Amino acid sequence: MTPAHSMAAKQGCIIERRHALTDYALIYEPNPTLRETSQIVTAFDADLQELVENMVRVMHQEKGVGLAAPQLGVLRRVIVVEVAQAIEREGESIGPLPLTVLINPEIAPLGHEKIEGWEGCLSIPGYRGYVERWQHITYTAQDINGHPLQGQATGFHARIIQHEVDHLNGILYTDRTEKIETFIRSPS
Ligand SMILES: [Zn+2]
Repeated sequence: MTPAHSMAAKQGCIIERRHALTDYALIYEPNPTLRETSQIVTAFDADLQELVENMVRVMHQEKGVGLAAPQLGVLRRVIVVEVAQAIEREGESIGPLPLTVLINPEIAPLGHEKIEGWEGCLSIPGYRGYVERWQHITYTAQDINGHPLQGQATGFHARIIQHEVDHLNGILYTDRTEKIETFIRSPS
């Protein structure tokens, strides 16, 4: 059982499959698909569920904290985020963030505070950059069944969501920093 399965089960939405699960694969910069704008999701169907399951699988395989559908070459407005356990990062204590699936997410800053921090991207392996983001955000979205949901996020959680929503608009974190010299090989 993947978290996507268990989540779908909780929401009473396991759908019988008539075809094999498509295996989407991660795409990398400079693949031009990463620069396109993703389309609004209007069908909350088995295809969407399959896409989300693939996104969660890849995020877990790659040990990421977020993934956007265009990173699998699918231009639809879907992101998944998850911080599996609490971590310490640049002096910030980051609490766990349960697996969250946001369809058609819209974000807005809450207040004016911005903060810089390190980011990496599964589509730009081996690098990270120092990027300024809103410290507090609110978001609205739909869940995998199309039901509206809303929430707030702060700090690293807000950073992940902003990074992933950027992917839906063809924006990479490398577009948001002039500190090109701060790009370094990530310690692995
Ligand atoms: Zn990314």
